[in-house]
Amino acid sequence: VLERFHDSQDAGVETVEQALAALEENWIDAGYASAQEMQEALGEGRQIVEAHIERKRHEPTTARTLFVEKTLRLDLGTFDLIGRVDRVDEADDDSLEIIDYKSGRPTVHPEDVANDIAMACYQLLVSRAHPGRAVRATIIALRSGARASHSLAPAELDELEADLRVLGSEIVARDFAQVRPVPKSLCEDCDFLALCLRQDGFAWTPAQNRES
Ligand code: SF4
Repeated sequence: VLERFHDSQDAGVETVEQALAALEENWIDAGYASAQEMQEALGEGRQIVEAHIERKRHEPTTARTLFVEKTLRLDLGTFDLIGRVDRVDEADDDSLEIIDYKSGRPTVHPEDVANDIAMACYQLLVSRAHPGRAVRATIIALRSGARASHSLAPAELDELEADLRVLGSEIVARDFAQVRPVPKSLCEDCDFLALCLRQDGFAWTPAQNRES
C-alpha cells in the first residue's frame, strides 16, 4: 500500500480512504492462529497506514520520490550484489535518501542504521548507480513514525565493496556439498534446523534438554 501511495505513476492511492481500501483488497487472511488474531493484525495495519499518510501529509519536505520497490544490481566480478529498496527520495540539493520501512520495531536510532548490513549494501548499490551524489539511508519505524539516518563515507563504501568481493568470491568458490553444519546457540530459532538435523553427526539438542 505504501508502495502505491509513494508511486507518482499510481494515482489510485492518494488518500487515507483509498489506502485503507487498498490494504483490505490486498490483505491475506492466511497464517493467523485465529480469526481474532487476524482482525487484530488488520486493525494494526490500518493504524500504521493511516498514521503514515497523515504524517507524510504534514511533513515539511520538498523531496521527490525517485522510485519505489526497486531492485538494484551491482556486478562484483564473480557474483552480482542485488538489493530491493522500499523507496528512494531525491532532495533539492540532489542528494538521495534510501528509505526502508520497518513495521515491527517501535523505534529506531542512527546506530541501528549504521550497524545494519542491508542498509550499508543499499547505500553501496545506490551510490554506484548514481556516482557523485550524496547518499544516506533512513529507517522509518512505521508504528511510531520514528526515523533515523546514517551515511557511509566514500572510503567506507569502497571498503565495504572490497569486503563483499572477498566474502562473495569465497562463498561462490566453496564446495558446499562438503560443508557440515555445526550446532550452535542460533540453531534453536533457525528456519533451517530441520534440514541440518538430517545431516549425519549433527548432534543438536533443544535448550531444555541440555546439561547446564
Ligand atoms: S540449524 Fe541453522 S544455525 Fe544451526 S547449523 Fe543449521 S543452518 Fe546453521
